[in-house]
Amino acid sequence: MWRVDDSIARYGVSNWGNGYFSINNKGNLSISPDKNAAHSVDIMDVLCRMESSGVAFPLLIRFPQIIDDRLREITQAFRDSIIEFNYGGAYQPVFPMKVNQRKEVIEYLIDYGRPMNLGLEVGTKAELLAALTLELPKDALLICNGYKDEEYLRLALSFNDIHNIMIVVDLFEELYDVLRYAREMGVKPQLGLRFKLFSKGSGRWAESGGESSKFGLSTGEALETIRILAENEMLDSLKMLHFHIGSQITDIHRIKDAMNEAARVYAKIKRIADIEYFNVGGGLSVDYDGSRTSEPSSANYSLREYSNDVVYTLQKICDEEAVPCPTIVSESGRAIAAYHSFLVFKVIGKKNSKDGFATCPREGDPLQIEDLYFAFKNISIKNYKEYYHDALHNRDELLDSFNLGNIGLEERARGESLFWMVCQRAASLALQAADTSTEFKDLKKLISQKYIGNFSLFQSVPDMWGVEQIFPMMPLHRHREMPCETGTIADITCDSDGEIKKFAGKNGTRDCIELHKLTSGEDYYLGIFLLGAYQDTLGDFHNLLGCVNEVHVICDGSSWKVCGQIAGDSCEKLLRFFNYDPDGYINRTMERHMNRPDLPRILAELHKALSVYTYFNRASSHRELEAEASCSQAAGARVQARAGAGHEVLKMKV
Ligand SMILES: *Cc1c(COP(=O)(O)O)cnc(C)c1O
Repeated sequence: MWRVDDSIARYGVSNWGNGYFSINNKGNLSISPDKNAAHSVDIMDVLCRMESSGVAFPLLIRFPQIIDDRLREITQAFRDSIIEFNYGGAYQPVFPMKVNQRKEVIEYLIDYGRPMNLGLEVGTKAELLAALTLELPKDALLICNGYKDEEYLRLALSFNDIHNIMIVVDLFEELYDVLRYAREMGVKPQLGLRFKLFSKGSGRWAESGGESSKFGLSTGEALETIRILAENEMLDSLKMLHFHIGSQITDIHRIKDAMNEAARVYAKIKRIADIEYFNVGGGLSVDYDGSRTSEPSSANYSLREYSNDVVYTLQKICDEEAVPCPTIVSESGRAIAAYHSFLVFKVIGKKNSKDGFATCPREGDPLQIEDLYFAFKNISIKNYKEYYHDALHNRDELLDSFNLGNIGLEERARGESLFWMVCQRAASLALQAADTSTEFKDLKKLISQKYIGNFSLFQSVPDMWGVEQIFPMMPLHRHREMPCETGTIADITCDSDGEIKKFAGKNGTRDCIELHKLTSGEDYYLGIFLLGAYQDTLGDFHNLLGCVNEVHVICDGSSWKVCGQIAGDSCEKLLRFFNYDPDGYINRTMERHMNRPDLPRILAELHKALSVYTYFNRASSHRELEAEASCSQAAGARVQARAGAGHEVLKMKV
């Protein structure tokens, strides 16, 4: 019998869930924002309330308390390492805004971050402006990175006395501008220096570091910066040494190498200039696939290993070089934000053109149909290979006959249907026989199902599309039942890239995921997890599918409450975003078609469509179709029901 534990193992939730996600004994996803199983939220309670209050799906759920827990965990790891190695300095966290600029998210961060004096890092004028509108504590660091033009620099300099602003020289030429505007404005800035290390990261963003990185100063430029600052009697403005070798560093050795090099650089510069902060940038990895390896979507080290390596290396080299230890600053964005949100969407149907049903051959049917029927009846573990090959041959011959005009659509449909039935049986016999030949692996892929999820990969999981990153996903309920279908998940965009085809698995990535059979009259909810870093603002509006509805949930001991709700985009909002003018269009329609008797109906439909959510809105579609289908099963032929954005939602017999 299938048990909840089987599901936990199958979907690897304890590998990637980091203690925040599990499956409860009702077979539902449960979320424990403080990793304490006694404080948990049953996702189906939340979804049930959302359904009854009419919130439409897809729905992004945020657990702000997970942000709090991540901040505490990371800060605590550094504090513990500082104690373990008797480090002579302190630690301060900074959140890089490019990881998630959503105002609500940054507000949660600032609130929860107050006790650890969390600062912000910005990389553009607009990010700086956004940061300035928030209630950042006065002494929390506000680090200005990126390429800086006149407006950026003057903005940063004018808030110099209001915030604890650190301007990091990222490009050598910037230095002259900083000095000029600071002099003009009568401001004494705090400056940082971004150093281009020889050491590179690993994984997908390795090129952000190393000699050819587009960021940072070379050794010569750094020395020149120091010389120019000294010449201008501003050496005491240099407060921070910064490096960042890339995001999602999957291999701990790269971090060790970079730390060694950077700590030496610090020690040498510390002899000349009184640097206070050592900023190690981001890069702390998130184990998205739960494999704990140096694969691109994983990490082969723990948080504590990371903090230990940073603190230990710095302590050791400062000792050797006999210089004081700096305050350590880290800009872990991904590791702070990734866990706090996930997307919930419903399956609206299945593209199951590979499901067949057995029909006895009829009078006058071609031989191939009789052969396929025979194969379907008699296939066994002894002959499955041979019968599968015969079936392939028969199918090809049938198609040839069809193309020559010798058989009609009816015969073609019966033949294809029997062919898929033989394939299904052959695949399950190959599984029984532990046949791992490429041929049967391919067959398994060929007959796997395509579930259609009501979401847009481009809007909600852009890194899955852009850099083929893996995000964990699984059904949110029914975990006491064995998932007996395997398949991939297509979104509702009309783009063949809008499909999830790579999944986290115990032994690396897999091409399909186990799913439950769709039951008529019941919604099937799936979740994509760890979306809190980069996905929120990197997403795009492919097919004019907009931002999704959002709900923020707080766990309160054994109960929970909604602490924030944000409506997703309406069709009208999307049109306006791309400079269309719905009002003008409505007015023109009224003028042009004044005399049409059906004008009121046209206008009503227009208004309705403009006001609704951009996503597929008919929650009950597959139920209705299925109900219809089961009423009329007696009849023979098959018809495809089409709905939504041109996808086949369900096939049925009528
Ligand atoms: C992107 C970036 C970060 C964040 O990196 P993560 O890997 O998400 O922690 C930190 N610092 C700088 C300078 C960055 O550009």
